[in-house]
Amino acid sequence: MTYQAGRHFLQIPGPSNVPDRILRAIDRPTIDHRGPEFQHLGYDVLAGMQRMFKTKGAVVIYPASGTGAWEAALVNTLSAGDKVLMYETGQFATLWQKLAQRLGLQPVFIGGDWRRGVDAAAVEAKLNEDKAHTIKAVCVVHNETSTGVTSKIAEVRKAIDRAKHPALLLVDTISGLGSMDYRHDEWGVDVTVAGSQKGLMLPPGLSFNAVSEKALAASKTAKLPRSYWSWDEMIGPNKTGFFPYTPATNLLYGLREAVAMLEEEGLDNVFKRHDRHAEATRRAVQTWGLEILCQNETEHSSILTAVLMPAGHSEVAFRKVVLDNFNMSLGSGLGKVADKVFRIGHLGDFNDLTLMGTLAGVEMGLALAKVPHQKGGVAAAMESLKESCLKTNT
Ligand SMILES: *Cc1c(COP(=O)(O)O)cnc(C)c1O
Repeated sequence: MTYQAGRHFLQIPGPSNVPDRILRAIDRPTIDHRGPEFQHLGYDVLAGMQRMFKTKGAVVIYPASGTGAWEAALVNTLSAGDKVLMYETGQFATLWQKLAQRLGLQPVFIGGDWRRGVDAAAVEAKLNEDKAHTIKAVCVVHNETSTGVTSKIAEVRKAIDRAKHPALLLVDTISGLGSMDYRHDEWGVDVTVAGSQKGLMLPPGLSFNAVSEKALAASKTAKLPRSYWSWDEMIGPNKTGFFPYTPATNLLYGLREAVAMLEEEGLDNVFKRHDRHAEATRRAVQTWGLEILCQNETEHSSILTAVLMPAGHSEVAFRKVVLDNFNMSLGSGLGKVADKVFRIGHLGDFNDLTLMGTLAGVEMGLALAKVPHQKGGVAAAMESLKESCLKTNT
């Protein structure tokens, strides 16, 4: 490959672009993970992640991709043959359900059309039917990265409470944490699963469980085999800032920096920034005359927008045109929507002009790939950003 001038636009919805400050933080010698310097790092990242999850409870950090933390959430709280209620919001919910099956759990999978989030009433109905309380956990994806739909976790909590059902609430916010409002304690979540490479702006390689007291209590009697993923093994040494096995020290340097950056900007400002960019992106898509996959106005994701291709047009071919001509990677269609949907990532280390570059690449790509559309999406997004600037400046 010859040198390509300018930077690559990595506009997939995770991994997201890693900012320079984080790259510099990672670029340091690895230290003794049993020594005093590491202890400070351990304390810092564990406390920092409690603030990110908005929890006073335990946070466990794994050197693993998000999938590892999915597995950890299940094996620490459940026993073979347990029923788990899951909800088909998209590809990631489907994969989590498959993982549960392979572990010997019995998922009850509520079907969905991939265009809306979790219907809390459907969850409530299933729990009401379960008089014997054989369902041990409700597992939902907060921000479904395959569809650009965000589910209302507080509503799911209320549904479980209305049914007076003791099931644990397990939530995947692998692509939401650090970009969208999330409140582990306030929303009554028992286990939250997150990852490093999306809103937290780190390279892939770390994942997390935030754990409630109730989940911790469940782990004392849960019988699925676990060793590497065991919370007990982690939480013991974590109390003094250490880890039971070699941690991903350099990624933890990066994590400390990421938390510092998010807190300098202020989490609420970070969330508002993502909301603005999502709003401007939707204006562009609507102006192009293309259809947004998410059908519910109150469930649009702020970190990505999934766009349906007009019938007879391939998203694979379109994304190739964009990559070849503009050095930008867009997200592919996953699972059921493969070759039907492309995804625009607008998360992480991202500002107004990054968005404008991204949308310009999409609009030029649509023209080059001869995808039927109306011009003016980029201009509409500029107008949207300008309007929201005026609102915050007055
Ligand atoms: C990215 C993602 C995953 C998978 O995480 P990996 O790090 O690829 O294992 C799971 N769920 C959601 C919602 C995601 O966005």
